[in-house]
Amino acid sequence: MVIVGIDLGTTYSAVSYMYEDGKPRILENQDGEKTTPSVVMFQNFGGDDEPLVGTQAKQQAKLMPEDLVQYIKRFMGDPSWKFDSSTGKSYTPEEVSAIILKRLKTGAELALGKEVTHAVITVPAYFDDARRTATRNAGTIAGLEVVRVLNEPTAAALAYGFSSDENGIILVYDLGGGTFDATLMKKTDDNYEVISTDGDRNLGGFDFDNLIINYVYEHLSEQGIETDDLSAEMEAEIREKAEQAKRALSSVDSTLIHLVVDKKPIRVEITKEEFDQLASSLVKRTIEITEDVLDESDVSWSDLDHILMIGGSTRMRIIKETLEEKSGKELKYEINPDEAVSLGAAVQAGIELVRLSKENADGVEVSEEIISSVEKVNIEDVTSQSLGTKAIDSNTDKEYNHILIPRNSKIPASGGSSFVTVGSTSRISVVTTEGDETDIKYVNILGETDVDLGRVVEKGHPITIKLSYDIDQTIYGEVFDEETDKLLKTFEINRDNNMSATQLKVASKNITDLKIN
Ligand code: ADP
Ligand code: MG
Repeated sequence: MVIVGIDLGTTYSAVSYMYEDGKPRILENQDGEKTTPSVVMFQNFGGDDEPLVGTQAKQQAKLMPEDLVQYIKRFMGDPSWKFDSSTGKSYTPEEVSAIILKRLKTGAELALGKEVTHAVITVPAYFDDARRTATRNAGTIAGLEVVRVLNEPTAAALAYGFSSDENGIILVYDLGGGTFDATLMKKTDDNYEVISTDGDRNLGGFDFDNLIINYVYEHLSEQGIETDDLSAEMEAEIREKAEQAKRALSSVDSTLIHLVVDKKPIRVEITKEEFDQLASSLVKRTIEITEDVLDESDVSWSDLDHILMIGGSTRMRIIKETLEEKSGKELKYEINPDEAVSLGAAVQAGIELVRLSKENADGVEVSEEIISSVEKVNIEDVTSQSLGTKAIDSNTDKEYNHILIPRNSKIPASGGSSFVTVGSTSRISVVTTEGDETDIKYVNILGETDVDLGRVVEKGHPITIKLSYDIDQTIYGEVFDEETDKLLKTFEINRDNNMSATQLKVASKNITDLKIN
Protein backbone atom coordinates (compact mmCIF):
# COMPACT_ATOMS: atom_id res chain seq x y z
CA MET A 1 0.00 0.00 0.00
CA VAL A 2 1.40 3.37 -1.05
CA ILE A 3 -0.52 6.50 -0.03
CA VAL A 4 0.45 9.80 -1.61
CA GLY A 5 -0.78 13.29 -0.79
CA ILE A 6 -2.27 15.16 -3.73
CA ASP A 7 -2.98 18.87 -4.03
CA LEU A 8 -5.42 18.87 -6.93
CA GLY A 9 -5.34 22.59 -7.70
CA THR A 10 -7.37 24.77 -10.04
CA THR A 11 -4.28 25.75 -11.97
CA TYR A 12 -1.46 23.61 -10.55
CA SER A 13 -1.36 20.22 -8.85
CA ALA A 14 1.37 18.61 -6.78
CA VAL A 15 2.09 15.21 -5.24
CA SER A 16 4.04 14.46 -2.07
CA TYR A 17 4.97 11.38 -0.14
CA MET A 18 5.96 10.68 3.43
CA TYR A 19 9.21 8.78 3.23
CA GLU A 20 10.34 6.17 5.73
CA ASP A 21 12.29 8.81 7.65
CA GLY A 22 8.95 10.41 8.58
CA LYS A 23 9.46 13.51 6.43
CA PRO A 24 7.11 14.58 3.63
CA ARG A 25 8.75 15.50 0.33
CA ILE A 26 7.41 16.62 -3.00
CA LEU A 27 7.62 14.14 -5.91
CA GLU A 28 8.75 15.38 -9.29
CA ASN A 29 6.50 14.60 -12.24
CA GLN A 30 7.37 13.01 -15.60
CA ASP A 31 8.71 16.36 -16.80
CA GLY A 32 11.00 16.80 -13.79
CA GLU A 33 8.73 19.50 -12.29
CA LYS A 34 7.46 19.88 -8.74
CA THR A 35 4.05 21.11 -9.84
CA THR A 36 1.92 20.05 -12.80
CA PRO A 37 -0.40 22.49 -14.57
CA SER A 38 -3.98 21.18 -14.12
CA VAL A 39 -4.51 21.45 -17.85
CA VAL A 40 -5.74 18.77 -20.24
CA MET A 41 -5.36 18.95 -24.02
CA PHE A 42 -7.58 16.47 -25.83
CA GLN A 43 -5.50 15.30 -28.78
CA ASN A 44 -7.38 13.43 -31.48
CA PHE A 45 -5.32 10.53 -32.86
CA GLY A 46 -7.28 8.88 -35.63
CA GLY A 47 -10.58 9.25 -33.82
CA ASP A 48 -9.26 8.33 -30.36
CA ASP A 49 -8.69 10.78 -27.55
CA GLU A 50 -5.12 10.85 -26.25
CA PRO A 51 -5.15 13.50 -23.55
CA LEU A 52 -1.98 15.41 -22.85
CA VAL A 53 -1.65 16.75 -19.30
CA GLY A 54 0.57 19.41 -17.74
CA THR A 55 3.12 21.84 -19.10
CA GLN A 56 3.04 20.51 -22.65
CA ALA A 57 -0.73 20.84 -22.71
CA LYS A 58 -0.50 24.37 -21.33
CA GLN A 59 2.07 25.35 -23.95
CA GLN A 60 -0.32 24.35 -26.71
CA ALA A 61 -3.17 26.37 -25.24
CA LYS A 62 -2.92 29.05 -27.83
CA LEU A 63 -2.60 26.67 -30.79
CA MET A 64 -5.69 24.61 -30.11
CA PRO A 65 -7.83 26.42 -27.55
CA GLU A 66 -10.95 24.40 -28.45
CA ASP A 67 -9.29 21.14 -27.38
CA LEU A 68 -8.10 22.48 -24.05
CA VAL A 69 -9.68 22.12 -20.62
CA GLN A 70 -8.45 24.33 -17.78
CA TYR A 71 -9.83 25.36 -14.36
CA ILE A 72 -11.88 22.17 -14.17
CA LYS A 73 -11.93 22.43 -10.37
CA ARG A 74 -14.37 25.32 -10.70
CA PHE A 75 -16.91 22.92 -12.20
CA MET A 76 -16.56 20.04 -9.76
CA GLY A 77 -19.99 19.04 -8.50
CA ASP A 78 -21.75 20.77 -11.40
CA PRO A 79 -23.82 18.10 -13.17
CA SER A 80 -24.54 20.32 -16.17
CA TRP A 81 -20.91 20.82 -17.19
CA LYS A 82 -19.33 18.57 -19.78
CA PHE A 83 -16.57 18.79 -22.34
CA ASP A 84 -17.11 17.43 -25.86
CA SER A 85 -13.86 16.39 -27.45
CA SER A 86 -13.30 16.46 -31.21
CA THR A 87 -13.68 12.67 -31.32
CA GLY A 88 -17.29 13.05 -30.22
CA LYS A 89 -16.79 11.78 -26.67
CA SER A 90 -17.96 13.77 -23.74
CA TYR A 91 -16.33 14.16 -20.32
CA THR A 92 -17.68 15.17 -16.91
CA PRO A 93 -15.63 17.35 -14.51
CA GLU A 94 -14.88 14.18 -12.47
CA GLU A 95 -13.50 12.47 -15.58
CA VAL A 96 -11.33 15.42 -16.59
CA SER A 97 -9.98 15.57 -13.03
CA ALA A 98 -9.42 11.82 -13.13
CA ILE A 99 -7.27 12.28 -16.25
CA ILE A 100 -5.13 14.78 -14.34
CA LEU A 101 -4.99 12.45 -11.31
CA LYS A 102 -3.94 9.52 -13.49
CA ARG A 103 -1.06 11.52 -14.90
CA LEU A 104 -0.06 12.48 -11.35
CA LYS A 105 -0.33 8.85 -10.22
CA THR A 106 1.91 7.65 -13.06
CA GLY A 107 4.44 10.39 -12.30
CA ALA A 108 4.50 9.49 -8.62
CA GLU A 109 5.00 5.82 -9.49
CA LEU A 110 7.94 6.74 -11.66
CA ALA A 111 9.46 8.85 -8.87
CA LEU A 112 8.92 6.23 -6.17
CA GLY A 113 9.57 3.12 -8.24
CA LYS A 114 6.41 1.47 -6.90
CA GLU A 115 2.72 1.35 -7.55
CA VAL A 116 0.61 4.08 -5.96
CA THR A 117 -2.71 2.68 -4.75
CA HIS A 118 -4.13 5.21 -2.30
CA ALA A 119 -4.31 8.97 -1.93
CA VAL A 120 -5.25 11.81 0.36
CA ILE A 121 -6.66 14.54 -1.86
CA THR A 122 -7.05 18.13 -0.70
CA VAL A 123 -10.00 20.44 -1.35
CA PRO A 124 -10.71 24.09 -0.47
CA ALA A 125 -12.19 24.29 3.02
CA TYR A 126 -15.44 25.79 1.76
CA PHE A 127 -16.03 23.01 -0.77
CA ASP A 128 -19.54 21.74 -0.18
CA ASP A 129 -20.73 18.16 -0.09
CA ALA A 130 -21.24 17.82 -3.87
CA ARG A 131 -17.77 19.15 -4.66
CA ARG A 132 -16.12 16.92 -2.06
CA THR A 133 -17.97 13.89 -3.36
CA ALA A 134 -17.02 14.78 -6.95
CA THR A 135 -13.35 15.01 -5.91
CA ARG A 136 -13.51 11.64 -4.20
CA ASN A 137 -15.18 10.18 -7.30
CA ALA A 138 -12.46 11.62 -9.55
CA GLY A 139 -9.91 9.69 -7.48
CA THR A 140 -11.92 6.50 -7.79
CA ILE A 141 -12.19 6.91 -11.56
CA ALA A 142 -8.43 7.40 -11.73
CA GLY A 143 -7.93 4.08 -9.93
CA LEU A 144 -6.97 5.58 -6.58
CA GLU A 145 -8.52 4.67 -3.29
CA VAL A 146 -9.16 8.02 -1.64
CA VAL A 147 -8.50 7.51 2.07
CA ARG A 148 -9.25 11.11 3.03
CA VAL A 149 -10.44 14.36 1.56
CA LEU A 150 -8.47 16.97 3.51
CA ASN A 151 -9.00 20.72 3.69
CA GLU A 152 -6.24 22.66 1.94
CA PRO A 153 -5.60 25.20 4.74
CA THR A 154 -5.39 22.38 7.30
CA ALA A 155 -2.87 20.66 5.03
CA ALA A 156 -0.86 23.88 4.74
CA ALA A 157 -0.78 24.22 8.54
CA LEU A 158 0.36 20.60 8.89
CA ALA A 159 3.20 21.26 6.46
CA TYR A 160 4.15 24.34 8.45
CA GLY A 161 4.04 22.34 11.67
CA PHE A 162 6.39 19.78 10.19
CA SER A 163 8.92 22.46 9.32
CA SER A 164 8.73 24.64 12.43
CA ASP A 165 8.29 24.18 16.17
CA GLU A 166 6.50 27.45 16.69
CA ASN A 167 3.07 27.58 18.23
CA GLY A 168 0.39 30.23 18.12
CA ILE A 169 -2.52 31.64 16.17
CA ILE A 170 -2.08 31.16 12.46
CA LEU A 171 -3.86 32.79 9.55
CA VAL A 172 -3.70 30.70 6.39
CA TYR A 173 -4.18 33.12 3.48
CA ASP A 174 -4.46 30.99 0.35
CA LEU A 175 -4.81 32.79 -2.96
CA GLY A 176 -4.41 30.31 -5.79
CA GLY A 177 -5.29 30.33 -9.46
CA GLY A 178 -9.04 30.26 -9.12
CA THR A 179 -9.95 30.26 -5.47
CA PHE A 180 -9.38 32.15 -2.24
CA ASP A 181 -9.48 30.70 1.26
CA ALA A 182 -8.92 32.41 4.61
CA THR A 183 -8.57 30.16 7.64
CA LEU A 184 -7.84 30.87 11.26
CA MET A 185 -6.06 28.11 13.16
CA LYS A 186 -4.39 27.51 16.47
CA LYS A 187 -1.33 25.31 16.72
CA THR A 188 -0.18 23.97 20.08
CA ASP A 189 2.62 21.43 19.57
CA ASP A 190 0.98 18.52 17.76
CA ASN A 191 -2.51 19.97 18.02
CA TYR A 192 -3.97 21.73 15.00
CA GLU A 193 -7.26 23.39 15.68
CA VAL A 194 -9.20 25.09 12.90
CA ILE A 195 -11.15 27.96 14.41
CA SER A 196 -12.97 29.45 11.44
CA THR A 197 -12.77 29.47 7.69
CA ASP A 198 -14.34 31.15 4.69
CA GLY A 199 -13.55 31.76 1.07
CA ASP A 200 -14.62 32.65 -2.42
CA ARG A 201 -14.52 29.94 -5.04
CA ASN A 202 -14.43 32.47 -7.83
CA LEU A 203 -11.53 34.63 -6.79
CA GLY A 204 -7.98 33.81 -7.78
CA GLY A 205 -5.03 34.54 -10.05
CA PHE A 206 -7.33 34.01 -13.04
CA ASP A 207 -9.28 37.13 -12.08
CA PHE A 208 -6.07 39.16 -11.80
CA ASP A 209 -5.14 37.92 -15.31
CA ASN A 210 -8.52 39.17 -16.51
CA LEU A 211 -7.70 42.68 -15.27
CA ILE A 212 -4.61 42.76 -17.47
CA ILE A 213 -6.53 41.22 -20.38
CA ASN A 214 -9.12 44.01 -20.15
CA TYR A 215 -6.33 46.55 -19.95
CA VAL A 216 -4.83 45.13 -23.17
CA TYR A 217 -8.26 45.10 -24.88
CA GLU A 218 -8.79 48.74 -23.99
CA HIS A 219 -5.42 49.53 -25.46
CA LEU A 220 -6.29 47.60 -28.65
CA SER A 221 -9.60 49.46 -28.95
CA GLU A 222 -7.76 52.76 -28.64
CA GLN A 223 -5.65 51.63 -31.61
CA GLY A 224 -8.84 51.09 -33.62
CA ILE A 225 -8.83 47.28 -33.35
CA GLU A 226 -12.22 45.55 -33.03
CA THR A 227 -11.61 43.34 -29.97
CA ASP A 228 -14.85 41.42 -30.61
CA ASP A 229 -13.35 40.07 -33.84
CA LEU A 230 -10.17 38.58 -32.34
CA SER A 231 -9.55 34.92 -33.12
CA ALA A 232 -9.70 32.32 -30.38
CA GLU A 233 -5.95 31.83 -30.88
CA MET A 234 -5.31 35.53 -30.36
CA GLU A 235 -7.50 35.57 -27.26
CA ALA A 236 -5.55 32.62 -25.85
CA GLU A 237 -2.27 34.37 -26.65
CA ILE A 238 -3.42 37.53 -24.87
CA ARG A 239 -4.44 35.44 -21.85
CA GLU A 240 -1.04 33.76 -21.75
CA LYS A 241 0.87 37.01 -22.10
CA ALA A 242 -1.30 38.72 -19.51
CA GLU A 243 -0.45 36.01 -16.99
CA GLN A 244 3.25 36.34 -17.81
CA ALA A 245 3.03 40.10 -17.36
CA LYS A 246 1.33 39.62 -13.99
CA ARG A 247 4.11 37.29 -12.86
CA ALA A 248 6.75 39.72 -14.12
CA LEU A 249 5.19 42.52 -12.05
CA SER A 250 5.86 40.45 -8.92
CA SER A 251 9.52 41.37 -9.34
CA VAL A 252 9.83 44.30 -11.78
CA ASP A 253 8.08 47.68 -11.74
CA SER A 254 6.97 47.74 -15.34
CA THR A 255 6.58 45.24 -18.16
CA LEU A 256 5.73 45.11 -21.86
CA ILE A 257 3.27 42.91 -23.70
CA HIS A 258 4.05 42.43 -27.40
CA LEU A 259 1.39 41.30 -29.83
CA VAL A 260 0.98 41.19 -33.57
CA VAL A 261 -2.64 41.94 -34.50
CA ASP A 262 -3.61 42.08 -38.19
CA LYS A 263 0.13 42.09 -39.02
CA LYS A 264 0.45 45.27 -36.94
CA PRO A 265 2.93 45.11 -34.03
CA ILE A 266 1.35 46.28 -30.79
CA ARG A 267 3.18 47.09 -27.58
CA VAL A 268 1.34 47.51 -24.30
CA GLU A 269 3.15 48.73 -21.22
CA ILE A 270 1.82 48.12 -17.75
CA THR A 271 3.42 49.34 -14.53
CA LYS A 272 3.17 47.86 -11.04
CA GLU A 273 1.32 50.97 -9.93
CA GLU A 274 -1.28 50.59 -12.67
CA PHE A 275 -1.68 46.91 -11.93
CA ASP A 276 -2.03 47.55 -8.18
CA GLN A 277 -4.75 50.05 -8.91
CA LEU A 278 -6.63 47.63 -11.16
CA ALA A 279 -6.21 44.89 -8.56
CA SER A 280 -7.26 46.91 -5.54
CA SER A 281 -10.90 45.80 -5.43
CA LEU A 282 -9.98 42.10 -5.69
CA VAL A 283 -7.38 42.50 -2.95
CA LYS A 284 -9.94 44.33 -0.84
CA ARG A 285 -12.38 41.48 -1.27
CA THR A 286 -9.81 38.99 0.11
CA ILE A 287 -9.21 41.30 3.08
CA GLU A 288 -12.94 41.56 3.77
CA ILE A 289 -13.29 37.79 3.77
CA THR A 290 -10.22 37.49 6.02
CA GLU A 291 -11.58 40.09 8.45
CA ASP A 292 -14.94 38.31 8.58
CA VAL A 293 -13.09 35.13 9.54
CA LEU A 294 -11.10 36.98 12.23
CA ASP A 295 -14.19 38.83 13.55
CA GLU A 296 -16.16 35.64 13.83
CA SER A 297 -13.67 34.45 16.45
CA ASP A 298 -12.97 37.87 18.00
CA VAL A 299 -9.39 37.78 16.78
CA SER A 300 -7.69 40.95 15.59
CA TRP A 301 -4.81 41.31 13.14
CA SER A 302 -2.43 42.00 16.01
CA ASP A 303 -3.37 38.72 17.72
CA LEU A 304 -1.96 36.70 14.83
CA ASP A 305 1.35 34.97 15.50
CA HIS A 306 1.96 33.70 11.97
CA ILE A 307 0.52 34.37 8.54
CA LEU A 308 1.02 31.51 6.11
CA MET A 309 1.04 32.74 2.55
CA ILE A 310 -0.19 29.90 0.39
CA GLY A 311 -0.90 29.73 -3.35
CA GLY A 312 1.06 31.14 -6.26
CA SER A 313 -0.91 34.40 -6.27
CA THR A 314 0.51 35.43 -2.88
CA ARG A 315 3.68 36.22 -4.83
CA MET A 316 2.01 39.40 -6.07
CA ARG A 317 3.63 42.23 -4.15
CA ILE A 318 0.31 44.00 -3.61
CA ILE A 319 -0.84 41.02 -1.53
CA LYS A 320 2.25 40.96 0.64
CA GLU A 321 2.20 44.75 1.04
CA THR A 322 -1.48 44.80 1.97
CA LEU A 323 -1.18 41.99 4.50
CA GLU A 324 1.90 43.60 6.07
CA GLU A 325 0.07 46.88 6.37
CA LYS A 326 -2.99 45.21 7.93
CA SER A 327 -1.09 42.99 10.35
CA GLY A 328 1.74 45.35 11.16
CA LYS A 329 4.15 42.43 10.72
CA GLU A 330 6.90 41.73 8.30
CA LEU A 331 5.79 38.66 6.38
CA LYS A 332 8.11 35.79 5.71
CA TYR A 333 7.17 33.12 3.24
CA GLU A 334 7.65 30.44 5.87
CA ILE A 335 6.75 27.55 3.64
CA ASN A 336 6.84 27.12 -0.11
CA PRO A 337 3.49 28.49 -1.33
CA ASP A 338 3.31 25.98 -4.20
CA GLU A 339 4.21 22.87 -2.23
CA ALA A 340 2.78 23.31 1.28
CA VAL A 341 -0.68 21.87 0.60
CA SER A 342 0.64 18.73 -1.04
CA LEU A 343 3.27 18.26 1.72
CA GLY A 344 0.51 18.51 4.33
CA ALA A 345 -1.55 15.95 2.41
CA ALA A 346 1.47 13.62 2.64
CA VAL A 347 1.53 14.12 6.42
CA GLN A 348 -2.13 13.10 6.52
CA ALA A 349 -1.22 10.13 4.31
CA GLY A 350 1.32 9.14 6.99
CA ILE A 351 -1.40 9.43 9.65
CA GLU A 352 -3.71 7.23 7.57
CA LEU A 353 -0.95 4.68 7.04
CA VAL A 354 -0.37 4.39 10.79
CA ARG A 355 -4.14 4.07 11.38
CA LEU A 356 -4.44 1.35 8.73
CA SER A 357 -1.47 -0.53 10.15
CA LYS A 358 -3.14 -0.48 13.59
CA GLU A 359 -6.26 -1.88 11.93
CA ASN A 360 -4.06 -4.61 10.41
CA ALA A 361 -5.05 -3.65 6.88
CA ASP A 362 -3.47 -5.65 4.07
CA GLY A 363 -0.06 -4.72 2.72
CA VAL A 364 0.69 -1.91 5.18
CA GLU A 365 4.31 -1.28 6.01
CA VAL A 366 5.11 1.61 8.26
CA SER A 367 8.45 2.65 9.71
CA GLU A 368 9.12 3.62 13.35
CA GLU A 369 10.10 7.08 12.12
CA ILE A 370 6.73 7.63 10.46
CA ILE A 371 4.92 6.41 13.56
CA SER A 372 6.84 8.70 15.87
CA SER A 373 6.48 11.71 13.58
CA VAL A 374 2.69 11.50 13.23
CA GLU A 375 1.39 9.59 16.23
CA LYS A 376 0.72 12.65 18.38
CA VAL A 377 -0.73 14.77 15.60
CA ASN A 378 -4.29 15.76 16.38
CA ILE A 379 -6.40 17.76 13.95
CA GLU A 380 -9.65 19.47 14.83
CA ASP A 381 -11.39 20.80 11.78
CA VAL A 382 -14.67 22.69 11.35
CA THR A 383 -17.59 22.56 8.93
CA SER A 384 -17.48 25.12 6.18
CA GLN A 385 -21.19 25.11 5.34
CA SER A 386 -24.25 25.47 7.55
CA LEU A 387 -26.64 22.55 7.31
CA GLY A 388 -30.33 22.83 7.92
CA THR A 389 -33.79 21.89 6.93
CA LYS A 390 -36.72 23.58 5.27
CA ALA A 391 -39.40 24.58 7.75
CA ILE A 392 -42.46 26.80 7.90
CA ASP A 393 -42.53 29.80 10.20
CA SER A 394 -45.72 29.50 12.28
CA ASN A 395 -46.04 33.29 12.57
CA THR A 396 -45.75 34.15 8.91
CA ASP A 397 -46.67 30.80 7.31
CA LYS A 398 -43.60 31.25 5.10
CA GLU A 399 -40.94 28.66 4.30
CA TYR A 400 -37.48 29.36 5.68
CA ASN A 401 -34.09 27.68 6.13
CA HIS A 402 -33.80 26.37 9.69
CA ILE A 403 -30.07 25.87 10.47
CA LEU A 404 -29.30 22.75 12.48
CA ILE A 405 -25.49 22.79 12.29
CA PRO A 406 -23.99 26.28 11.93
CA ARG A 407 -20.86 26.66 9.85
CA ASN A 408 -17.54 26.54 11.67
CA SER A 409 -18.84 23.82 14.02
CA LYS A 410 -16.22 21.28 15.12
CA ILE A 411 -16.22 18.09 13.06
CA PRO A 412 -17.68 15.53 13.62
CA ALA A 413 -20.78 17.62 14.30
CA SER A 414 -24.44 16.99 15.01
CA GLY A 415 -27.44 19.22 15.51
CA GLY A 416 -31.15 18.70 15.89
CA SER A 417 -34.31 20.67 16.43
CA SER A 418 -37.90 20.00 17.27
CA PHE A 419 -40.65 20.79 14.76
CA VAL A 420 -44.39 20.21 14.62
CA THR A 421 -46.50 18.99 11.72
CA VAL A 422 -48.55 21.71 9.99
CA GLY A 423 -51.56 19.49 9.49
CA SER A 424 -52.90 16.05 10.21
CA THR A 425 -50.72 13.64 8.20
CA SER A 426 -49.09 10.21 8.01
CA ARG A 427 -45.95 11.32 6.10
CA ILE A 428 -43.57 14.22 6.14
CA SER A 429 -40.94 15.34 3.73
CA VAL A 430 -37.53 16.41 5.07
CA VAL A 431 -35.54 18.77 2.86
CA THR A 432 -31.85 19.11 3.74
CA THR A 433 -30.30 22.50 3.01
CA GLU A 434 -26.76 23.82 2.84
CA GLY A 435 -26.02 27.51 3.41
CA ASP A 436 -26.30 30.36 5.88
CA GLU A 437 -29.21 32.35 4.51
CA THR A 438 -32.66 32.22 6.09
CA ASP A 439 -34.29 32.72 2.71
CA ILE A 440 -34.70 29.31 1.12
CA LYS A 441 -34.00 30.82 -2.32
CA TYR A 442 -30.35 31.39 -1.45
CA VAL A 443 -29.40 27.97 -0.07
CA ASN A 444 -28.55 24.69 -1.77
CA ILE A 445 -31.11 21.95 -1.56
CA LEU A 446 -29.08 18.80 -0.89
CA GLY A 447 -31.96 16.39 -1.05
CA GLU A 448 -35.45 15.54 0.00
CA THR A 449 -36.46 12.44 1.90
CA ASP A 450 -39.92 11.11 2.55
CA VAL A 451 -40.60 9.91 6.09
CA ASP A 452 -43.45 7.54 6.94
CA LEU A 453 -44.85 8.33 10.40
CA GLY A 454 -46.46 4.88 10.62
CA ARG A 455 -49.86 6.35 11.53
CA VAL A 456 -51.95 9.44 11.03
CA VAL A 457 -50.95 12.15 13.50
CA GLU A 458 -52.75 15.33 14.47
CA LYS A 459 -51.67 18.82 13.48
CA GLY A 460 -48.91 20.00 15.83
CA HIS A 461 -47.36 16.56 16.29
CA PRO A 462 -43.75 16.92 17.50
CA ILE A 463 -40.93 15.58 15.30
CA THR A 464 -37.17 15.92 15.79
CA ILE A 465 -34.86 16.25 12.83
CA LYS A 466 -31.17 15.70 13.43
CA LEU A 467 -28.30 16.11 10.97
CA SER A 468 -24.69 15.00 11.34
CA TYR A 469 -21.38 15.60 9.61
CA ASP A 470 -18.74 12.89 9.85
CA ILE A 471 -14.97 13.42 9.74
CA ASP A 472 -14.93 13.66 5.92
CA GLN A 473 -17.87 16.10 6.05
CA THR A 474 -20.21 13.50 4.65
CA ILE A 475 -23.78 14.17 5.77
CA TYR A 476 -26.48 11.94 7.21
CA GLY A 477 -29.75 12.56 8.99
CA GLU A 478 -32.19 11.08 11.48
CA VAL A 479 -35.89 11.72 12.11
CA PHE A 480 -37.54 10.94 15.48
CA ASP A 481 -41.14 10.84 16.62
CA GLU A 482 -41.02 12.74 19.89
CA GLU A 483 -44.21 11.27 21.29
CA THR A 484 -43.08 7.65 20.95
CA ASP A 485 -39.34 8.43 21.09
CA LYS A 486 -39.03 6.22 18.03
CA LEU A 487 -36.37 6.63 15.32
CA LEU A 488 -38.49 6.90 12.18
CA LYS A 489 -35.79 7.10 9.58
CA THR A 490 -32.04 7.38 9.00
CA PHE A 491 -31.10 8.88 5.68
CA GLU A 492 -28.13 9.86 3.60
CA ILE A 493 -28.59 12.70 1.22
CA ASN A 494 -29.27 11.62 -2.35
CA ARG A 495 -26.49 13.62 -4.05
CA ASP A 496 -28.34 14.35 -7.26
CA ASN A 497 -25.40 16.48 -8.34
CA ASN A 498 -22.98 13.55 -8.22
CA MET A 499 -22.35 10.49 -10.37
CA SER A 500 -24.14 7.26 -9.50
CA ALA A 501 -22.28 4.00 -8.75
CA THR A 502 -23.06 2.73 -12.26
CA GLN A 503 -21.90 5.95 -13.89
CA LEU A 504 -18.69 5.71 -11.84
CA LYS A 505 -18.01 2.19 -13.11
CA VAL A 506 -18.49 3.24 -16.73
CA ALA A 507 -16.29 6.29 -16.21
CA SER A 508 -13.51 4.21 -14.62
CA LYS A 509 -13.52 1.92 -17.62
CA ASN A 510 -13.49 4.84 -20.08
CA ILE A 511 -10.59 6.55 -18.33
CA THR A 512 -8.63 3.29 -17.88
CA ASP A 513 -8.86 2.75 -21.63
CA LEU A 514 -7.42 6.18 -22.42
CA LYS A 515 -3.78 6.66 -23.29
CA ILE A 516 -2.74 9.62 -21.16
CA ASN A 517 0.47 11.49 -21.95
P1 ADP B 1 -4.14 26.59 -7.43
O1 ADP B 1 -3.92 26.07 -6.06
O2 ADP B 1 -5.43 27.32 -7.56
O3 ADP B 1 -3.94 25.61 -8.49
P2 ADP B 1 -1.58 27.91 -7.30
O4 ADP B 1 -1.44 28.08 -5.85
O5 ADP B 1 -0.69 26.96 -7.98
O6 ADP B 1 -3.08 27.70 -7.71
O7 ADP B 1 -1.40 29.36 -7.94
C1 ADP B 1 -1.52 29.55 -9.29
C2 ADP B 1 -1.67 31.02 -9.55
O8 ADP B 1 -0.53 31.70 -9.06
C3 ADP B 1 -1.80 31.36 -11.01
O9 ADP B 1 -2.87 32.25 -11.21
C4 ADP B 1 -0.47 32.02 -11.32
O10 ADP B 1 -0.59 33.00 -12.33
C5 ADP B 1 -0.13 32.66 -10.00
N1 ADP B 1 1.30 32.91 -9.85
C6 ADP B 1 2.30 32.02 -9.85
N2 ADP B 1 3.49 32.63 -9.73
C7 ADP B 1 3.22 33.95 -9.64
C8 ADP B 1 4.03 35.12 -9.51
N3 ADP B 1 5.35 35.06 -9.45
N4 ADP B 1 3.39 36.31 -9.43
C9 ADP B 1 2.05 36.40 -9.49
N5 ADP B 1 1.24 35.34 -9.63
C10 ADP B 1 1.82 34.13 -9.70
MG1 MG C 1 -3.91 25.62 -4.20
